[in-house]
Amino acid sequence: MGCPCGDTVGTVESRPHVAGTGNLFFGPAMRIILPIKQVPETTGVRMDEATGTMIREGVEAIVNPLDLYAIEAALALREACGGEVLAISMGPPAAAKALREAIAMGVDSAVLLSDKAFAGSDTWATSYVLAAAIRRLEPYDLIVCGERATDGDTGQVGPGIAGFLNLPVLTYVSRVDGIAGGVCRARRLVENGYETLEMQLPGVVTVLKEAADPRLPTLRGKQRAKKVEIPVWGAAELGIAADEVGLGGSPTRVIRIFRPSLARKCETAVASDEAAVDAAADRLLEMLRSKGLV
Ligand SMILES: Cc1cc2nc3c(=O)[nH]c(=O)nc-3n(C[C@H](O)[C@H](O)[C@H](O)COP(=O)(O)OP(=O)(O)OC[C@H]3O[C@@H](n4cnc5c(N)ncnc54)[C@H](O)[C@@H]3O)c2cc1C
Repeated sequence: MGCPCGDTVGTVESRPHVAGTGNLFFGPAMRIILPIKQVPETTGVRMDEATGTMIREGVEAIVNPLDLYAIEAALALREACGGEVLAISMGPPAAAKALREAIAMGVDSAVLLSDKAFAGSDTWATSYVLAAAIRRLEPYDLIVCGERATDGDTGQVGPGIAGFLNLPVLTYVSRVDGIAGGVCRARRLVENGYETLEMQLPGVVTVLKEAADPRLPTLRGKQRAKKVEIPVWGAAELGIAADEVGLGGSPTRVIRIFRPSLARKCETAVASDEAAVDAAADRLLEMLRSKGLV
């Protein structure tokens, strides 16, 4: 137990399995940190090919859809174990809206990480800022992230936070089976099925869609979300020098951005009589054979 990648305690199981929480065992009250990201509504994303960045102006911003599953997983764990869920988001001031939505769903409190110095941060710098904030929020038992953000789409930030905090991480978690005695047992998706792992807490999990069925915000939650104060922490509060983060502190660079061309070589057969249908079928078979598909 407790190795950074988790130890396999069961065999890899074949699909499918029944989604949901196994409710095997749940231990004492936990303090759960929930990093969530605000993203542009996917259908509205346009890229600035000159700068390699997303054009966010005029596009509706929403909670990263995959983070709704992380929110639900964190709330379900709080309900099973007791304790509290604290959401954090790094983004512009408008990202407070995403945090208010999480509060409307039942999250206890939230902190916004916002500073001009954070703009242009890559996944390394984003994870660094989030990790610095989480350090400031100590003590905590579990950090629950989404699988990936629908805009940046790297899935690197959860493991990045774990790296900076020197914590174990379980990625692609499809079900948290239980938490007790400072250990989290969870099922994670692997190429040929699922594996059950145990991880020493504190630790990080990144959860898949199948880990939870997100609840809707309640009226009482919405009212609370409107009123609740969300502290804003910038680089100074986190003890971060401006040149450690943002574009200047990011080790990766977007060199070029382009839409991949999906050119397909097509051949059309127009078969209006039986002989032509036979010929077309022969041609199709020949093509499939030439590609080793039959
Ligand atoms: C060189 C470079 C420049 C960039 N410049 C900009 C820029 O100017 N503006 C910009 O908006 N983006 C910019 N990005 C993208 C930015 O780095 C990523 O959006 C960000 O690091 C998160 O990565 P991701 O979207 O792949 O998240 P993923 O790793 O896919 O997200 C996984 C999970 O991590 C958590 N998470 C991720 N991001 C956050 C967050 N911000 N707050 C809280 N939780 C989070 C969520 O739980 C999420 O489900 C840049 C990237 C690069 C490489």
